[in-house]
Amino acid sequence: MKIFIGYGLFFISFFGISQDSLFIRSIYNEALERGHAYEDLRELCKTIGPRLSGSAKAEMSIDWSEAKFKAYNFDNVYKQAIMVPHWERGTTESGWITSKKGLMYKLNLLALGGSIGTNGLMSGELVEFSSLDELKDAPDRKVSGKIVFINQKMDAAQIQTFKAYGGCYAIRGEGAVEAAKKGAVAVIIRSLGLPIDDHPHTGSMHYENGVPKIPAAAISTKDAEYISSKLKSETLFVKIALNCKEFPDAPSYNVMGELKGKLSNNIISLGGHLDSWDTGEGAHDDGAGVVHCMEALRILRELGYKPKHTLRVVFFMNEENGNAGGKAYAKWAKEKGETHRAALESDRGGFTPRGFSCDGSQEFVNLISTFSDLFRPYDLHVFEKGYGGVDIGPLKNEFPGIPLFGFVPDSQRYFDFHHAPSDVFENVNERELALGAASIAAFIYLLDQQLP
Ligand SMILES: [Zn+2]
Repeated sequence: MKIFIGYGLFFISFFGISQDSLFIRSIYNEALERGHAYEDLRELCKTIGPRLSGSAKAEMSIDWSEAKFKAYNFDNVYKQAIMVPHWERGTTESGWITSKKGLMYKLNLLALGGSIGTNGLMSGELVEFSSLDELKDAPDRKVSGKIVFINQKMDAAQIQTFKAYGGCYAIRGEGAVEAAKKGAVAVIIRSLGLPIDDHPHTGSMHYENGVPKIPAAAISTKDAEYISSKLKSETLFVKIALNCKEFPDAPSYNVMGELKGKLSNNIISLGGHLDSWDTGEGAHDDGAGVVHCMEALRILRELGYKPKHTLRVVFFMNEENGNAGGKAYAKWAKEKGETHRAALESDRGGFTPRGFSCDGSQEFVNLISTFSDLFRPYDLHVFEKGYGGVDIGPLKNEFPGIPLFGFVPDSQRYFDFHHAPSDVFENVNERELALGAASIAAFIYLLDQQLP
């Protein structure tokens, strides 16, 4: 079981590889034959449901997590107190398109997270832009007093859908600010999703000091296509009513559980975010990710693995609209004087595993590429430089040089469900979820073996 590392080259003894491969096989057997991930996700989604920061359901999900960690006999189960933003969608959320020719069309719409309400029914003429850049270039007179509609499509030609999302993300984050700068009274955006369907996708947006705050909502891709086609022949008006609201920050928690290592102050963190948007059930985003990591630690414990480093599962709170949990965790870890060797995040859904990406130096990219032979029997092939995750990101500031790893599942269906009412338990596949947990357990095992 000896792997010698030197001068960037790896000499893997035949005996070594067979020991690692046998252990990894036993991890996959445990996940597939006796796994808990799917039933744990069912509990989280069906007993609790959506878990937006500051909500009662978020608090219940913290209690649930703590109880699960204790039931799985993790060492040192504890919570870290944090403060989180608290925004609520409210009870009124409606929108219609009308025209002077008598059209009345009900929109499938969701307020964007953080938006102000409309203070009753708000009306305005609709003006369409095909992209955020087109809006930025428009003269103020074209926008002033109107409701802006940003109809920017995710690029369907991208193979990795996160790249298509990245190319479009700014319409949600910046749309309200750019529209308000030109005098718009509200903004509606095309949902960030690839399929043409009825589900609107919410997500965070922000305001800027000195720029008027205007209401912001997303409509379904199907509605976006319909409105755009109608606008070619007639002037359209929008009526919307939103009573969403920002409340004072609320107390909340990150939840942690560990397998104590021989080098107990040397930590490898693995986690996802416990909070979710308030539509759907937060199943893929990020119920799957937290369950993946809890199951990975359960499997290692169940197999009697004695880690070298302390392996710590962290369920982060508030990734979706503030990242208060991720920021507080990194700061707290530094203040405790811990040594952090690596961190892994799962926040790309519960789909079929493809591999792992590394946000770190070439040395660590080289390290994970040596894992690829061991993962070949399990159809994982992505071991490359890439993104880690939002929650673990702040660790880079406190622990310079720390490698951050992102679990990479297949991305083709992620943006069917992301932040939409369709992100429910029924859309997660049991085997795909279990394979994700096994892949993470195996990857953490190899990291634990290989890192100093
Ligand atoms: Zn997420």
